[in-house]
Amino acid sequence: MKDFKCNVFNSLDLTGQCALVTGANSGIGEGVAKGLAEAGANVVVNYVSSEDRAAKVVAEIVAKGGKAVAVHADVSNENEVQEMFRQACKEFGSIDILVNNAGLQQDAAFYELTIAQWQKVIDVNLTGQFLCAREAVREFLRRGIKPEVSSAAGKIICVSSVHDIIPWAGHANYAASKGGVAMLMKTMAQELASQKIRVNSVSPGAIKTPINTSAWDTPEAEAALLKLIPYGRVGITDDIAKAVIWLASDHSDYVNGATIYVDGGMTLYPEFREGG
Ligand code: NAP
Repeated sequence: MKDFKCNVFNSLDLTGQCALVTGANSGIGEGVAKGLAEAGANVVVNYVSSEDRAAKVVAEIVAKGGKAVAVHADVSNENEVQEMFRQACKEFGSIDILVNNAGLQQDAAFYELTIAQWQKVIDVNLTGQFLCAREAVREFLRRGIKPEVSSAAGKIICVSSVHDIIPWAGHANYAASKGGVAMLMKTMAQELASQKIRVNSVSPGAIKTPINTSAWDTPEAEAALLKLIPYGRVGITDDIAKAVIWLASDHSDYVNGATIYVDGGMTLYPEFREGG
């Protein structure tokens, strides 16, 4: 019992750590970046296409007393990812937390899915997570553990999806990319645990963001969506941010290779609620 930390809130404090969040100019990434900043981390706000929105996220963090910087990179481009990590380390000294969040959809019926749509989604959603994780791990190994801020040498949180386990008609490229993330995450967790690097996933259900506006922005669409969510509400970005903060903190120090489904029960086969 000697080493047990009874103050839960102290162990959620990320002061002195730097978090890089990909795709942080919008939706879940924006919510996670702001949440990590509120927990005390310095935050790198990655963006690819909208410098203005990234600057706004940075300004909002700074206005609340946090530290943040916007850094451009296409996560599917090896050189740009390496340059982003160089800039981030120059700004904040090192990286302690990577949130692999950037992702997109390019939907089509399976027989109409083009190689370009397939490749784009795999490049951003899966290869992008690999490239960023590899740079983060190189930095974690170079720096080693800083016991004054964390028991781990580094933490990676992969933003996956309920579609890493639920097949999704009309979205074969997206589901394949997230299924790939699930196995990439577990393999990294297994391989890197002895070096005190923790790798976990947060798999969101339906969260209100620009990626899925048509699924919730009319009462009819929201009612149809709610049939898939036993908890009875569509998620918000804070739901994901809270899980990410916990996984980034030492409060989850013994959690490695896990997927947390933050989905209001969407993965619980809700159509079987009436007995199947
Ligand atoms: P979003 O608002 O569309 O955000 C996606 C972010 O990824 C944007 O910032 C986007 O930047 C960025 N991005 C896209 N391509 C990129 C690239 N090549 N390099 C760097 N950044 C890139 O959607 P979201 O819902 O927040 O999605 C975030 C993550 O959550 C995704 O991985 C998604 O699959 C996952 N997810 C979302 C839900 C949901 O219900 N919302 C459910 C399950 C999983 P631009 O805006 O500049 O293009």
